[in-house]
Amino acid sequence: MREWSQRELVAQAMDARERAYAPYSGYRVGATLLGKSGRVYTGCNVENAVYPLCTCAERVAVVKAVSEGERGFVALAIVTENGGAPCGSCRQVLREFGEGIVVLIADATGDYRETTVAELLPDSFSAADLD
Ligand SMILES: [Zn+2]
Repeated sequence: MREWSQRELVAQAMDARERAYAPYSGYRVGATLLGKSGRVYTGCNVENAVYPLCTCAERVAVVKAVSEGERGFVALAIVTENGGAPCGSCRQVLREFGEGIVVLIADATGDYRETTVAELLPDSFSAADLD
């Protein structure tokens, strides 16, 4: 796999955040997902007047990637106003594709902290439990 830059991935997530559709919460989120191919998939949260139909930025990025044939991921970056972490649903969706995925959690200034899916979702349920 080629070299990649954490700061660049965060910067791209900041750009994706500009496209967030969040008229209800006002909480805009941008995400970038780096595939093992080297491709980057972006996502933003997409809200709906029927609140349960809101989709998180992270899951938008995952769905875009998988629908384009990518299933292996190196890292995910998310950007929110205050550095909020991925919700539980997104943690489980990411877990489906690996525990080792690096997760960069950034605030609107671009400051970020680094963690992993395994750290965000310990003792998780996965495909291995279905064998
Ligand atoms: Zn989420």
